[in-house]
Amino acid sequence: MHELSLTQNIVELAVQYANRNNAVAIRSITVEIGALSGVVADAVAFAFDVCSKGTMAEGARLDIRRIAGVGRCLRCLRESQLEALTHVCPLCGSLALETMQGQEMKFTEMEVD
Ligand SMILES: [Zn+2]
Repeated sequence: MHELSLTQNIVELAVQYANRNNAVAIRSITVEIGALSGVVADAVAFAFDVCSKGTMAEGARLDIRRIAGVGRCLRCLRESQLEALTHVCPLCGSLALETMQGQEMKFTEMEVD
């Protein structure tokens, strides 16, 4: 399961950050999941419960933000919203679409006590 290792990394980063800041508990963790990343939000939520157990992140609230997929066409130079990973421009049909946003999953914010 792809989500398990990604989530494990996020929990580790969060715990490291909390330790560096002498925090006693992690209240919430925010992650962004790109619409084109193939990462399933429900699977991340489940993996978070598993990975955070016994760490400072246990019991923290997990906020998941979905980031839209955006592509930019190198031929017509227009940007479009993407629901799935593709190289076909939905506006002019060329195969010159570059993905600008939405392929990543990242840890963006956290709150600690
Ligand atoms: Zn185009």
